[in-house]
This record gives sequence, structure tokens and C-alpha cells, in this order.
Amino acid sequence: MSKVHWLLGDQLNAGHSWFKQIDPEVCFVLAELRQETDYVTHHIQKVVGFFAAMESFAQALENAGHRVVYLTLDDTRDFEDLTALIEHQCQALKASELHYQLPDEYRLDEQLAALSQRLTIPVVSHDSEHFLTPRDAWERYPNHRMEFFYRALRKEYKVLLDGDGKPEGGQWNYDKDNRESLPATHTLAEPLLFSRDVSALVERLARRGVKTLGSIDAKAFIWPVTRREARQLLNHFLAHCLPNFGRFQDAMTDRGWSLYHSRLAFALNTKMLHPLEVIRAAEEQWRGDPKRITLAQVEGFIRQILGWREYVRALYWRHMPGYRQRNHLGAQRSLPGFYWTGETRMACMAHAIGQSLEHAYAHHIQRLMVTGNFALLAGIHPDDVDAWYLGIYIDAIEWVEMPNTRGMSQYADGGLIASKPYASSGQYIRKMSDYCTGCAYDVKEKTGPGSCPFNSLYWHFIDRHRETLADNPRMKLIYANWDKQDPVQRRKILATARARLDRLEQL
Ligand SMILES: Cc1cc2nc3c(=O)[nH]c(=O)nc-3n(C[C@H](O)[C@H](O)[C@H](O)COP(=O)(O)OP(=O)(O)OC[C@H]3O[C@@H](n4cnc5c(N)ncnc54)[C@H](O)[C@@H]3O)c2cc1C
Ligand code: SF4
Repeated sequence: MSKVHWLLGDQLNAGHSWFKQIDPEVCFVLAELRQETDYVTHHIQKVVGFFAAMESFAQALENAGHRVVYLTLDDTRDFEDLTALIEHQCQALKASELHYQLPDEYRLDEQLAALSQRLTIPVVSHDSEHFLTPRDAWERYPNHRMEFFYRALRKEYKVLLDGDGKPEGGQWNYDKDNRESLPATHTLAEPLLFSRDVSALVERLARRGVKTLGSIDAKAFIWPVTRREARQLLNHFLAHCLPNFGRFQDAMTDRGWSLYHSRLAFALNTKMLHPLEVIRAAEEQWRGDPKRITLAQVEGFIRQILGWREYVRALYWRHMPGYRQRNHLGAQRSLPGFYWTGETRMACMAHAIGQSLEHAYAHHIQRLMVTGNFALLAGIHPDDVDAWYLGIYIDAIEWVEMPNTRGMSQYADGGLIASKPYASSGQYIRKMSDYCTGCAYDVKEKTGPGSCPFNSLYWHFIDRHRETLADNPRMKLIYANWDKQDPVQRRKILATARARLDRLEQL
């Protein structure tokens, strides 16, 4: 008889209390499953990253003396559904109990919760011991704006506070210091890339006919798949990227693909790294070297993890399952084909999509203000936008992807997460990047076939959503600005936008 402890692919938390003691009765099970490779078309690096991290984790548990069963796609080929596989494994292992950690995704939570009806043995759920707030944090923290949520957590976890419990430097937030574009002469730090041979896994996916997108170098996989590698990536970030993190956080360039971003989201979301471990390490690095790393850099970084990451999770659990149906702006168009190929004359889109296909990664501003902004302006259905983001990024798991995509970038939740849509013309991209200089379109033009598509589409977006957005206090100035433009010019802008919308695929 054994007690089966089931682990999902994003539950690779070596610090979990499950692993504190070795119990020969306990058998840990990890499984590669078609259900997970197929619920959306994923980037090949994402599928390989998860499976390689799961295999390494299973190996580490076994090396530590635990009993482990690791099932590959070959082993699970007859099981399309997770619950059927769990039931079968419980029988095969003669399980007397089934234990699982609470999943972070609604669809898995529903499946696992139904197991107690299906199995005749006791089914026990456990906390994943990863997040800093509970699932019902939305109810527990009274103020639902991110900034106040973040401040409450800073106090609770005593992060970046002075001896009197006040925020270091006298301010909670240094975002306004963190909006620089990259000077042309600036030399970027080299990203730390790993080079693991994952050919066997790539072959396994091909053998089983798993459909994926994007490219991979099977001989040199660049992402961390062990806790050791995840720690190395963290240390690299602290030493080489943190000093410039906040300063160039919003900058975009075709001279690099991750700038000073940490690329830690995959390691965090698979739970190889604990958020508090990352936060404490960043604070310690700053305290040890405050001349090289200014407060604005470290505060900017910590806010993303302690603030945004916990906040979007709270919002997800409060508003699911209805959240996935939200389409506040009634967007209906299909995602243009160039999202899957990067083949467009818009230099910003070509670069953001191209690097996503190559590395399964784009940084936040590329996701929000380039690809997300374009989809918002063009009125792409949020289901299509969600499917793309959920598939293409190595760090994409629904609990974090959906509030960011459907909420923050598409305003489909009607303003739960963002107080106004993150819509902008080409001017924002021109200011924050060097994309426009090499573009086939002219960012200074709003009308005509050579004009930047973001310009006319932006005003078309503003014009067509007047009824929904004009009363938003943060949009009033924008509407006043639009209304005072020459009516002939406005008509020309709208005509240019309509021509673009009719031929999105050709942009
Ligand atoms: C449209 C869209 C889709 C996104 N989809 C995902 C996703 O699927 N998975 C994901 O982890 N993040 C997602 N984000 C948030 C953010 O863009 C990524 O976390 C970040 O780009 C990952 O790169 P990084 O590790 O280098 O982050 P860094 O810029 O180095 O930031 C440090 C860490 O902060 C956290 N973080 C930063 N911003 C956010 C945010 N808005 N929400 C939650 N956590 C945040 C991440 O854990 C990240 O690793 C999305 C953002 C947008 C606009
Ligand atoms: S001109 Fe417009 S389409 Fe071209 S890179 Fe600039 S913002 Fe993008």
C-alpha cells in the first residue's frame, strides 16, 4: 500500500514540507500528459522546459531517497485526461490515499476537486506553500488597487522598510524614475543562457505528434530546468541586471531581447524559486551595494513580484470562471496570421513576435505596448489573444497570463485591473524604442498607406469606443484632444484605419 502524492508540472517546490522527511510509504508521481501539451498550441521551448524541469525534479527527489514514479508521454499515451490517469495510477500503486497540492489553474482545480467523488480512497489537498497570499486574498485585502495591495504586503513581510516601519527612502513607489529609453551608445549586459541537450525530449514530442510553435536548439536549451540553474539565473540577475532593472524596465530595442529583465518568471511559475527568496535576495543585494543599485531599481523589481504577481493571482481566483468569458469592448476580429510568423512590415511587431518565436520570451512592455496594444487597437477577440499569449511564452500559465492579457492588455474585464485601457499610438513606441527608425512605416504620419498603423488605429479605437470610455475620468483629456482635431483630418485618420482593419493581414 502507498500514499500517492501527485505533483503537477508547475509544483516543483523543493522546499515544500512534503519533502522534509523520507517516508517509504509515500510515492511521488509526476506525469507528462497530452492534456497539458494540447489544451493550447504551446511554444516548443515551453513544453520542453516544463518536461525537462519535471524530469530533473523527479531525479532530484529520487537522489534524495524518495520513492518516485515519472511517467513520460509514451507511458501516458492511452490517457487523455488527468483524472483517468490518476485513477489508474492509484490502482496500479495500490494506493490507500491520494494527496495533491492545490493547483493554480482553475481547469485543473476543477478536475482534481472532482476526484474525491471518483475515487474510493481518501483524497487530501494541500497548500502549494509557494505564494505569499492565500487564494482568497482578494477578499482578505480590503483595497483592490494594486498599489495598496502591494503596500500591505510590504508591511506584512517587512520588505524595503526602514527601522520605523516606513518605506525606505520615504516613498512606496519609484515608478516615475523608471521610464528611460535605451541610449544608442549603451552596451547591454549579456543574458545568461544555459546549454542543456534536450534532444531526447524533442524526439519524444515528435514521436508522439505533439503540435508546437516556435523554434528550439535541442543541443543547447537556454532556460533553467533545475533549482541550481534557477539560482544561477537569479545570481546573474542580481549581479548584472538589477543595477539597471528599473531604469530600462520599459525600454525596447532590436539590439537585445531581454535587456535588464530577470527572465525568472519560468523558474518562479514552476516554483523552482520561491518569490520571497527572490525578493529577499534583491533587497539584500541593494542593502549591500546601495551606490551601484539605487532604491528605484530594487523597488521596481520587488513591486513586480510582491505586488503584481500576487495581485493578479488574487484577481484570477476571485473572478474565475466568469473572467475567461469577459469581452467588455466586444472585440470580434481574428488574430492576424503574422502573430504566428512575425512576417509583418511593422518593425516593432516583427521584432517582438520574432524574438517570442525564437526564445519563447518577450519582456513586459513588448507584451503590453506592442503585441497587446496592437490587438487591442485592432479589436481582436480576447479568446484569440489569450490563446496566443498562453501558448507562446515559456512562463505562461493561465492564472498569471489571463489577468495580464484579458485584463491589463485588452481591457476585456472592463477595468478590474487597469483604470484605463493600455492603448497608445506609435508615439509611445517611438519614445521607448529604436524600432521606428528601421520601419517601413512612418511614425510621424497618421494618414495614408505609409503611415504608422498604430496611429490611425489608435484614434479609431478611441472613436469607436466613445460610448464605453468617454466617461472614464482618465480618458477625458484624450477625447477632448480628438474632438478638437480638424474634422477633415479626423475623417482621413478614420478612413486610413478602416483600410487597415480591412487588410490587417497585409500590414
Ligand atoms: C499581455 C501580457 C501577458 C503576460 N503573460 C504572462 C504570463 O503568462 N506569465 C507570467 O509570469 N507573466 C506574464 N506577464 C507579466 C510579465 O510580462 C512577465 O512576468 C515578465 O515579462 C516575465 O519576464 P521576466 O521574468 O524577465 O520579468 P521581470 O521583468 O524581470 O520581472 C520580475 C518578475 O516579476 C513578475 N512580474 C512582472 N510583471 C508581472 C505582471 N504584470 N504580472 C505578474 N507577475 C509579474 C514575474 O514573476 C517576473 O519574473 C504578462 C504580461 C502581459 C502584458
Ligand atoms: S513606425 Fe509604427 S509600426 Fe513602425 S516600428 Fe514605429 S510604431 Fe511600430
